[in-house]
Amino acid sequence: MQCEKCGSARVQLASNVYRRGQRHAARHLLTGLVQAPAAPAYAAAGTAARLASPPRMRSPLTPILGFVAVAILLCLSGRLGWIGTALAGLFLVGTLAALAANSVHNRTAYPDAYRRWKNSYLCLECGQVFEHRD
Ligand SMILES: [Zn+2]
Repeated sequence: MQCEKCGSARVQLASNVYRRGQRHAARHLLTGLVQAPAAPAYAAAGTAARLASPPRMRSPLTPILGFVAVAILLCLSGRLGWIGTALAGLFLVGTLAALAANSVHNRTAYPDAYRRWKNSYLCLECGQVFEHRD
């Protein structure tokens, strides 16, 4: 197999690169904290692992925490008044819409993105991530 961009044969399965990078980071966490600049091998492994990282599911926590933060700010501001109440209602609707959008993404787009990632390769020469097609 060759890289689609540069033609190099130095390609590895992205999931393997990512797992190896995670193990490498965990193993060198303490030494990385003790030694000021990271060793080149550590930095290279970290960069490769970042390039080969899997897609992430969207968390429901982000919109909920945003809503809680705004609710606290509105409560701390004293009397809400009709404008504050309208803003809180608008923000609640926005939060519910964000939760629904995250849920739809996690059920529809995420599984496909994860499947593509599982079939993806990382070029160790140029950093290109590409999906393997037969
Ligand atoms: Zn390449």
